[in-house]
Amino acid sequence: MPEKLPEALVDRFGRHVDYVRLSVTDRCDFRCVYCMPEDTRFVPRAEILALEELLALGRAFVALGVRRIRITGGEPLVRRDLPWLLERLARLPGLDELTLTTNGSRLAELAGALAAAGVGRLNVSLDSLRPERFAAITRVGKLERVLAGLEAARAAGFARIRINAVILKGRNEDEVLDLVDFARAQGFDIAFIEEMPLGAIRSHDRAESFYPSDRIRADIARRYPLIRSTAGTAGPARYDRMADSATRVGFISPHSHNFCEQCNRVRVTAQGRLLLCLGQEHSVDLRAILRDRPGDDGALQEAIVKALAIKPRGHDFQVGGEARIVRFMNHTGG
Ligand code: SAM
Ligand code: SF4
Repeated sequence: MPEKLPEALVDRFGRHVDYVRLSVTDRCDFRCVYCMPEDTRFVPRAEILALEELLALGRAFVALGVRRIRITGGEPLVRRDLPWLLERLARLPGLDELTLTTNGSRLAELAGALAAAGVGRLNVSLDSLRPERFAAITRVGKLERVLAGLEAARAAGFARIRINAVILKGRNEDEVLDLVDFARAQGFDIAFIEEMPLGAIRSHDRAESFYPSDRIRADIARRYPLIRSTAGTAGPARYDRMADSATRVGFISPHSHNFCEQCNRVRVTAQGRLLLCLGQEHSVDLRAILRDRPGDDGALQEAIVKALAIKPRGHDFQVGGEARIVRFMNHTGG
């Protein structure tokens, strides 16, 4: 008789995992300098999980008590037939929220389909409001397409859209206030992210480009006094408020304010590797189970429960340290 599985995923440090980030592709139409090298190689298609396999994963996690799924990548909106998957995930009984992170390049065409499929909230990455600089950071992106995408998302009814901005010294640190003003004017939230040393890049020295959250916070506070908020979200962002605006300002600070103690999440790469920590290599190959035992939800659930036993205490990212994690962010599922 198989052992009855627990209904909650709890690791050996007592952390309750109720949040999963599912990467649906490693491919992307941008080549952001902090995320991947210009000549990046994508994995062969046969290695990427099929939409049905992604759905089986979602079902298994939700059966084990996961309440939130974020769809990410690579760029999730380059995955063909994505709405098919989203519709089915959104309807899983017990799932509270399905969210998605995108670079916005294809939002103008797809925002309506995402809303109709049941995506509740969107995070849209935007590191610069200057077209040339935007093109330089993303290497190929067009700012006007992302701005049109944001408009379309609003028109499709998305509320509380969050802008994600990675701030790098020497690239865009002088745009912090412009980005905050943009978020305020548009009624968006905004989160500033410290660059993480995932994968070795040649475009810049990550130690030199490091711009800590505390500096960003101080830059903003000169114009808008920030009120510390205790409001938590499912993610690692700490949020502040401003007295005269509904816009929340978040900080994701893996270097300066380690968030591991409250970690409530795991990730699955587009190849079906369950990553127990963003900054460590502890992982379990769920694709092997999906392909060796198709349809066996029990085996999948058992593997996920067992995997929690190897969830590490936390990352040990170091500013200026070598990128010990060779995995790039587009493989990790940011
Ligand atoms: N392509 C989508 C996008 O850009 O929003 C989703 C995937 S992307 C990997 C998710 C988030 O990770 C983005 O906000 C991106 O800016 C961020 N990111 C990528 N590489 C990073 C790095 N090395 N350090 C910190 N954030 C990074
Ligand atoms: Fe693509 Fe997102 Fe990585 Fe930029 S951050 S290269 S948009 S996956």
